[in-house]
Amino acid sequence: MNLSDLYGNQINGNQINEKQLIDKLEQQHCLTKEEWTELISRRNSQTAEYLFEKARYWQHKYFGNKVYTRGLIEFTNYCKNDCYYCGIRRSNRQAERYRLTKEQILECCAIGYELGFRTYVLQGGEDGWFTQEKLEDIVRTIKERYPDCALTLSIGERSFESYQRLFEAGADRYLLRHETAEDAHYQNLHPPELSSENRKQCLRNLKEIGFQTGTGFMVGSPGQTPEQLAEDMLFIHELQPHMVGIGPFVPHHETPFAKETGGTVELTLFMIGLLRLMQPKLLLPSTTALGTIDPLGREKGIQAGANVVMPNLSPTSVRKKYELYDNKICTGDEAAECRMCLNRRMESIGYELVTDRGDYPF
Ligand code: SAH
Repeated sequence: MNLSDLYGNQINGNQINEKQLIDKLEQQHCLTKEEWTELISRRNSQTAEYLFEKARYWQHKYFGNKVYTRGLIEFTNYCKNDCYYCGIRRSNRQAERYRLTKEQILECCAIGYELGFRTYVLQGGEDGWFTQEKLEDIVRTIKERYPDCALTLSIGERSFESYQRLFEAGADRYLLRHETAEDAHYQNLHPPELSSENRKQCLRNLKEIGFQTGTGFMVGSPGQTPEQLAEDMLFIHELQPHMVGIGPFVPHHETPFAKETGGTVELTLFMIGLLRLMQPKLLLPSTTALGTIDPLGREKGIQAGANVVMPNLSPTSVRKKYELYDNKICTGDEAAECRMCLNRRMESIGYELVTDRGDYPF
């Protein structure tokens, strides 16, 4: 039996080639696990160009040349978790820990508002110092002061009740990457107390509560195979999130994965293109990690189908300390410089940063 028999993807006796798989994806918005695996493993630069052209077609149909921005506020780098890839894992004794005060967070919002941000993302490690009450108070205050802005939280795994109360306090969106959908691979990236099942359940809970929900995964994390990326696509298809953040894995020198190879720009872009075709209205950030491994990474991400950028609004005094991976970019720039720099970058490729909440187009 040859491979194409095994995968059952024969049409009129001819094996489906990669372009036909892309056509099928565009029409049906999903592929089988075998087809995803085939397409991802057999991709080349021609397939990628074919894919990106279609991805741009759908990006333009729903978003024109508009790129949404979110102001990212990294408000704590304390974390109780010990993910093997992450620079702010609790075992990293070299990390200089910090927390922003409520006033500092509000100051970031004020600066961001002036610069034209209408979405704030509060991201941090899983830091128990920020109790449920403190978090709700911060959410309420931001929403009272900026009723025209969307507020996104990215603060890890919590109970259904906790998510529910944060939603009631006014949070609109939540980002929680599933990291990798396959159980065994998840286990290889995380300590035993964390599970893929719990993370996925959190995502289902967030959607059920009514958050605009974002998931995502790292590309090229240690041990990742095309089959696992196929699982990621199937999980995302099942979840139907509003946003998917993907970026290359980038090693951090103080983690167990210090010596591992990082993910590539090429594969990250290909996955962005596939996501755009699978869910054409998806909010898809061109991530800082992509900009870190390639000086034009974020521009390339947009040209592969992404439509969101998330520049940093954290105070410059703490930027370097929120070091998830080595050589993270933009850690020395003021928020205004970041915004202007991204403006220029987007204009250079014919796109425009907009002052807009940037909701999912329901
Ligand atoms: N505590 C929050 C925020 C985590 S940091 C949460 O659990 O969701 C945000 C994202 O950074 C993570 O979801 C992960 O996908 C990514 N990240 C962490 N370490 C990384 C690394 N070494 N390379 C690339 N991305 C990384």
